[in-house]
Amino acid sequence: MRKKTLSIFFLYVCAALMLLTGSRTCDAATIYSGGLIYTKAGSAPAEAVVVQNDKFSYAGSLEGAFQAAGEDCERVDLKGRMMLPSFFEAHAHPNMASLLDLRDFPYEGDVPTPEEYVAHIRAYLETHPNTQALRGTGWNAAAFPDALPDKELLDQVSTEIPIFIRSFDQHYAWVNSKALEMSGINKDTPDPLDQIKRGENGEPGGTLLDEITLLVDSALPPMSVEEHMELILKFQDMAHSLGVTGYMSAMVLPPNDRGHRDYQYAAYRELLAEGKLSMYVRLAFLAMPETYENAIGWAAKEAAAYETDGASDLLGFRLIKFYMDGTILGQSAYLLEDYASRPGFRGNPLWPDVAGLRDAFRLCDENGLRIHIHAVGDAGVKLALDGLEAVKKPNRHAITHLELLDPADFARFRDMGVVATINPYWFCKSVVWDDSELKQLGLDRSEQMLPAKSFYDVGVKVAAGSDYPVSTPPNPLAGIEMAVTRTLIAPWRAGRTAEDCTLNLPEAISMEQALDAFTLTAAYAYDLDAITGSIEAEKSADFVILEGNIFETAPSEAKVLETWFRGDQVFRAEQPRTF
Ligand SMILES: [Zn+2]
Repeated sequence: MRKKTLSIFFLYVCAALMLLTGSRTCDAATIYSGGLIYTKAGSAPAEAVVVQNDKFSYAGSLEGAFQAAGEDCERVDLKGRMMLPSFFEAHAHPNMASLLDLRDFPYEGDVPTPEEYVAHIRAYLETHPNTQALRGTGWNAAAFPDALPDKELLDQVSTEIPIFIRSFDQHYAWVNSKALEMSGINKDTPDPLDQIKRGENGEPGGTLLDEITLLVDSALPPMSVEEHMELILKFQDMAHSLGVTGYMSAMVLPPNDRGHRDYQYAAYRELLAEGKLSMYVRLAFLAMPETYENAIGWAAKEAAAYETDGASDLLGFRLIKFYMDGTILGQSAYLLEDYASRPGFRGNPLWPDVAGLRDAFRLCDENGLRIHIHAVGDAGVKLALDGLEAVKKPNRHAITHLELLDPADFARFRDMGVVATINPYWFCKSVVWDDSELKQLGLDRSEQMLPAKSFYDVGVKVAAGSDYPVSTPPNPLAGIEMAVTRTLIAPWRAGRTAEDCTLNLPEAISMEQALDAFTLTAAYAYDLDAITGSIEAEKSADFVILEGNIFETAPSEAKVLETWFRGDQVFRAEQPRTF
């Protein structure tokens, strides 16, 4: 925080000087000018902005800025660079990432050798001596002779601490003997789906696939408060480097929910108490059909106690997360028509009936809790809207993912005041498109996936998020570019053309719409729009300075040079980042 200690003597001197000269004092004010200053969608750019302490005190003409701040104030010449509100990430899961990420360390060659992996894992444990269970991510199957690593390599690191490391695509887990032992997986474990790699004697070899990996994860001790704190701060640093100063963490378990402890919430409270949060953070607590009363009751009570003690703008958690369905690839998205790959099957909703869902939504509403809903399939979205009919409007509840919609449902978002939270990082045809979405949905439906413009056309409020770590890195400039172009940014195309990767081009939105979804309307979804999300007098001085002008060059190429939060610089590029 910038120090604001002015002695009484100094105040007297300033007052005396004002009387003598008639000019304005310059109380910690800085004037920015000389570049494109984008304030918010629908407004003309400002010629100059005044930042005073932790707020913008003026945005408008340079003349007006001098009048507001005084001519002898500190001045920053943007030198043609672009200044805009910092970004807000409307849906992410920072605590689903890992402290140990095997993509993070330097190595020779295309992929690390197994020995380099082992050395890196050992080094991690040396710097984290209190680790009870080592969870990591990021190994590449190409590093291993038969594509699947063995437990013996990890047993070299530890036979006492369970080690559980997911592959970079999240499908496989590489585990040591201790992790297998703690989860009860042995040569007699039934394995109808062939998800356990076995040695000649039938013993598990150390690599597991898909569902069975969850068995290990839930058998290990949960991440500690300290591990969660370190992960949150690691995410905060990355977010600042990407120009992000606010986010919503989309799935936090209430303590003791579902039989195991989640220390994520405790970690946020501790970081707030220690003054280490330098972003706006909103947390959504998970409610499932069998546990929702507990979850909602606990969250309402906790929020009330927090607010009685004097809540900080930095942290809030009047949010409840609901799942309507799963994913299209897992055939668990709830569809109005059959899966093309599975005639007669439309997926199953996670809430069996709308009456029960309405009871849960009503309970949120009565307790002043906002509702955030995961809905992927068109039937899932419809179920969410049918449920929301039960609560007061307009209400700023949100539905996210929105991969398929019945066209009749777009206007219902507007009529009910529901925010559509889109994931522009998915607005493209991925490398595996033909074998995934196209195969599951058929040509017609897959070509209509992930709408965005249709929401704007009928006047819906639209926010945007990455679903990090599903989309990594959560770089809003890449998301903005994909929302506008509907294709992958150039470095992510893996040798294919922009056309090959283009998805549902008629749903492309404008640059201003995309910017708004990642700034002001994302803040609106969490009641922070009066504080942040645009460059306006009296709002918090939360902004970024970009090297390039995203109205003239590809947004993903406009590097973030500086990020400011509440008038403090929280990131400065040593050298421009590259992706
Ligand atoms: Zn999510």
